[in-house]
Parts: sequence; structure tokens; C-alpha cells
Amino acid sequence: MKGDIITYDYYGSLYINMTNRCDCHCVFCIRDQDASALGGLWLQEEPTKEAVLEEILAHDLTPYAEIVFCGYGEPTCRADDLFWICDQLHAAGRADLPPIRLNTNGHGGLINHRDITPELAGRLDAVSVSLNGSDQEEYLRLTRPGAGEKGWQAMLDFVRGAAQSVPKVMVSIVDYDKSPQEIEACRKLAEDLGAIFRVRPFAG
Ligand code: SF4
Repeated sequence: MKGDIITYDYYGSLYINMTNRCDCHCVFCIRDQDASALGGLWLQEEPTKEAVLEEILAHDLTPYAEIVFCGYGEPTCRADDLFWICDQLHAAGRADLPPIRLNTNGHGGLINHRDITPELAGRLDAVSVSLNGSDQEEYLRLTRPGAGEKGWQAMLDFVRGAAQSVPKVMVSIVDYDKSPQEIEACRKLAEDLGAIFRVRPFAG
């Protein structure tokens, strides 16, 4: 819809905004904290996969470190469209195509009723999953998934699966109210799952 922002520049990468939908309701989600400030990033209408592809390809991609599927919702709510766009980007044969990353809450399996991690192979160069807590209780307190406790296990399964399919899998926490002990417990869990750990500063 007119005014909707499908792509935007952020820290040297090209971010893709395909959906507002998400199965979580995180306590720190920017959508709750200042939705009015999101302007065109709060989509009035989801763009078609063709429109997303067209807009990405309209860019000179040379300056970008990565293409990042992120948005203000959960990109795997549109997993099939996401995979189609990745396939088309690779098929376009552009010499300026940078690595492609998915930022996700790791609930793609839950949302799509199938394990989507094998489908990441060859499409994505990196995946970053929000961990948010080192145990189920802390995770549920912060992310409040619609599916409740199943959200925790789904996220763990997704990280394990993605680590088998994608060259670089990162697990991140937002430094919202974490003690050093909790951060270390998150680091250990991430590494046990086969992922790289990183702490993101709280943007609230
Ligand atoms: S997973 Fe992301 S988009 Fe969804 S509620 Fe949490 S912070 Fe917001």
C-alpha cells in the first residue's frame, strides 16, 4: 500500500519488511512500545513476493553488507514467499548480491506446521535467532509466545536444525534485564545448540 516501507537501510545492510505478523508478544517489542513512530514500517498491507523481489533488485546492492529479512514481524510467517524470493535472487545471477540473512524468533516450524530448517539450505547464508532466556521460564516471561511452552522447544529445535543447514547461525539476546550469570547461561546454551552467541543492546 502507498507509504508502506518494504526495504530500508540499517547499519550498512538492506533490511526487508514483509509482514507485521508474529506469534510472540515480547515485552520489549518495539511494536508495542512506540507503534506510532514506526510510520511506513507498520505495513498497511503485506507486499506480494513479486513486489518485494522487484524492490530488492531495483537497488544497487554493491554497498550492502547483507540483505536481512527482518521487518517488524516474524518473517517466517511468510516462509514460502521468503524462500521464493531467495531463490529468485540467486537465479538473477547478480554479481552484487550480498549474503542473505534471516532474523527470526525461531518459530518457523511451529508457524508452518513443518520443520522448515532443511529448506534454509542454499537459500540463506546466515540466520540469527532470538534466544531471550537461558531456560523456559525466562523465555516465556519475555517472549510470551501464542503457543505457550511449545514456543521454547520449537525455538531450540529450530536453532539445532538451522545449524545443520546454514553456514552461520547466531543466537542473540537483548540486554534488557539480564545478569552476567544469565548472559553466561545463554552463551552456554547457544554454543551447545551449535550457534554463535551475541548480545544485542536494548533499543527501548
Ligand atoms: S519476536 Fe520480534 S516481532 Fe515478534 S513480538 Fe518479539 S520482538 Fe516483536
